[in-house]
Amino acid sequence: MAVTTQARPESRATTTKKWVYLFEEGNKDMRDLLGGKGAGVAEMTLAGLPVPPGFTITTEACNAYYASGKKFPDGMWEQAIEALHHVEEKTGKKLGDPKNPLLVSVRSGAKFSMPGMMDTVLNLGLNPQTLEGLAKLTDDRRFALDAYRRFAQMFGKIVLGIEAEKFEKRLELAKEKAKVKTDPELKPEQLEKLVKEFKDIILKESGKPFPDDPLDQLRASIEAVFSSWNNKRATDYRNFNKIPHDLGTAVNVQTMVFGNMGNDSGTGVAFTRDPNTGAKVLYGDYLPNAQGEDVVAGIRTPQPISSLKKQMPDVYKEFETNAERLEKHYRDVQDLEFTVEKRKLWMLQTRSAKRTAQAAVKIAVDMVAEKLITEDEAVQRVEPTQVDQLLHPRIDPKAKPKVIAKGIDASPGAASGKAVFDADRAEQKAKSGEAVILVRIETNPDDVHGMIAAKGVLTARGGKTSHAAVVARGMGKPCVAGAESLKIDLEKRFFTVDGVKVKEGDLITINGTTGEVILGSVPMIEPAINKDLNQLLTWADARRRLGVWANADYPRDAKVARSYGAEGIGLCRTEHMFMEQERLPIVQKMILAADEKERRKWLAELLPFQRSDFVGILKEMHGLPVIIRLIDPPLHEFLPNYDEQLVKVTTMRLKKAPKKKLEQEEALLKAIEGMREQNPMLGLRGIRLGLLYPEIIEMQVRAIVEAAISLKKKNVDVKPEIMIPLVSHVNELSRTHETVERVVKEVFAQLKMEIPYKFGTMIEIPRAALTAGEIAKVAEFFSFGTNDLTQTTFGFSRDDAEGKFLLKYVEEKILPVNPFESLDTVGVGRLMKIAVEEGRKSRHDMEIGICGEHGGDPASIKFCHTLGLNYVSCSPYRVPVARLAAAQAAMETKERDR
Ligand code: ADP
Ligand code: MG
Ligand code: MG
Repeated sequence: MAVTTQARPESRATTTKKWVYLFEEGNKDMRDLLGGKGAGVAEMTLAGLPVPPGFTITTEACNAYYASGKKFPDGMWEQAIEALHHVEEKTGKKLGDPKNPLLVSVRSGAKFSMPGMMDTVLNLGLNPQTLEGLAKLTDDRRFALDAYRRFAQMFGKIVLGIEAEKFEKRLELAKEKAKVKTDPELKPEQLEKLVKEFKDIILKESGKPFPDDPLDQLRASIEAVFSSWNNKRATDYRNFNKIPHDLGTAVNVQTMVFGNMGNDSGTGVAFTRDPNTGAKVLYGDYLPNAQGEDVVAGIRTPQPISSLKKQMPDVYKEFETNAERLEKHYRDVQDLEFTVEKRKLWMLQTRSAKRTAQAAVKIAVDMVAEKLITEDEAVQRVEPTQVDQLLHPRIDPKAKPKVIAKGIDASPGAASGKAVFDADRAEQKAKSGEAVILVRIETNPDDVHGMIAAKGVLTARGGKTSHAAVVARGMGKPCVAGAESLKIDLEKRFFTVDGVKVKEGDLITINGTTGEVILGSVPMIEPAINKDLNQLLTWADARRRLGVWANADYPRDAKVARSYGAEGIGLCRTEHMFMEQERLPIVQKMILAADEKERRKWLAELLPFQRSDFVGILKEMHGLPVIIRLIDPPLHEFLPNYDEQLVKVTTMRLKKAPKKKLEQEEALLKAIEGMREQNPMLGLRGIRLGLLYPEIIEMQVRAIVEAAISLKKKNVDVKPEIMIPLVSHVNELSRTHETVERVVKEVFAQLKMEIPYKFGTMIEIPRAALTAGEIAKVAEFFSFGTNDLTQTTFGFSRDDAEGKFLLKYVEEKILPVNPFESLDTVGVGRLMKIAVEEGRKSRHDMEIGICGEHGGDPASIKFCHTLGLNYVSCSPYRVPVARLAAAQAAMETKERDR
């Protein structure tokens, strides 16, 4: 028997699918099927709250409608009619009954709330007969006509696609004629005329009369809601918010309740807590004698919700109780819609509320104190990117700035200052105490000192990962990059945009959170880890396994990092130290030295500078490890640009400059020429440099060890780790190791003291990752330099790729994300995995971390957690973000493993 049942063809066994659910049949866990709105009203119905009866047509029906070339799926319409009969029974009214007409709304509602993106039709069911019935029943002809006018308007616009303006113009005209300002002041005669005019518009524009049969109205409205899933607004919104396009929308058909029945009626929207600050107060708007969208549409200015308390205290009280109940029930802040019809409260919508970063943190922490959620949940509820927003100065949301241009929001936060067009002048002005914004067409390493001095950086070219953006983020400074409408004249020191001219010294503000460029200054809010954020991060710390370290080149950065909770320095780059004003000339002489002897002479001059750099940072990080990376970039980066030097020499020749001076500049030009490389990224840099000129790294190692010992003598607990960049073959590292060890021993002997230190390498070349087992025999630690590792794995030169094709790649989905922003876990990640496994096979207690930009990216942090790294290292300002992301990663894997 069982066998025959199974053998029965599928089609005969299945009855028609369930496409329609009464509100009482659904619940909050059915968002996929019923949409957020449908699940919400169902849950409120279950909880016994006053919800106007209705039913939901599923998202599956919407998808089936599209799949079959815009036809209702089999059985759907019949099920809807059956559900309608249930609603009629419940309310005692009937759709289309002139004596006691039922009116309904037809509301859209997808799984994820898409406020204002799709459409809703109100007051459906009105025609000349039911209009009279409604007027008689309510003894309010004006109200009935107002409802009819609204219905015709919405049906015309939403279902028939007639331009909204056509109706609005008529409405305005009617108000003008009647000499009134607001809709509720229109008299019945005037409304009656308006309804007729609206019907005429519909006939003229659609070629068909306005349908009188309520079932025709219903059918067309359901189709219109299905169609609104694919309107342009909705599609754009989904693209922006990364919501899949195949979810479909549900349709909710619901008994109308009326907020437009006089001053003891009204409609409102409220949040159970303030979504801006997180304060525990009922927050929202209320509009008496109004219907539905009036509040949002801004037709009349709504009153604060507290006005309802004065007007109808008992209704307010009931709403407040419902709000509290819903928040407790959902254990999250709710965004509620309600309507009051003749002092009777109706709940129309509940959903979890969108909130600012500040509110998100406060609400999470408060709800733990209120025992509404657990600490685990609090840690999971806040987005790491929200923490990022909290830690940069922000423009006061109350300010109304004059925006003159828009670029890319490259590094969050805002800053005001005088526009300055070159790095040297920025530095000078900053030294004399002025706040400056560095404005460049684009930046390069020569501008770094100007960026350090500036409050923020504005460029006309480049994207989120341009030099300006990366460096600014690293410094925690705001940056607007790629503001292409700026016409910058670097020579004459001004830019123009849209007829506005900004000269050097003029005050501007940049908002790196939005990409806006603003004329003048704007009031700001300063960042800090407040009590709530501190609490949240403390909970996060107790849950994460990954360490969080910071990339910091200067003691002041280290200090910030430490105050934000960094547990070490994962990358201290030494070349920045060479760029500073007093040192650069010495560095240049060292590079141009004729022989080793001369080079050593200049290096000896640099030694005290370097030593004091390391004293500063090791002292700041007492008790914690500091990884110092020896020199990495190609040496020509410390010399003037070749083309500029060529111009200089040519001009000097033409102007017959003094012979001696000319010769000097010619020599420099020749030297630069000699160092030019086809592909500097893959040229003489990193460990290769140290093997060719060991005296450079000898000086650096000496400076590190001398600094550490001098501190130890003062009882400072120092933990230096020496890191070598760009290794590809173990032999390179062994040779370098010999040099380093030799110098360390020398210094130990000279200073008659020893300190513990570690020797390790960056893994940033695929060959190094693939041979990590060999390399780990020499290196005591690894640090993934994922910027270079991404470049070398993809074979992309980052600067060229980002300027030319990478953005297009991402736009056209050839690549899922920009691999310089979020780790390519499939390719680059695979190399990392190999390196971790083979490295630890050779050396079990191998310390492994990441110091690329990715160390501060939540998705990449999650990957580092699963790889089993010891720590991630990121810019100081991203340390709190990383602490939270690391905790979330740990909790997620734990949950998955369960
Ligand atoms: P949105 O998703 O854009 O908020 P809604 O479907 O919630 O659209 O409806 C728009 C407006 O109409 C809201 O203010 C809502 O409260 C109101 N509304 C919807 N259905 C009804 C109803 N049955 N009775 C009264 N007002 C309603
Ligand atoms: Mg709504
Ligand atoms: Mg590198």
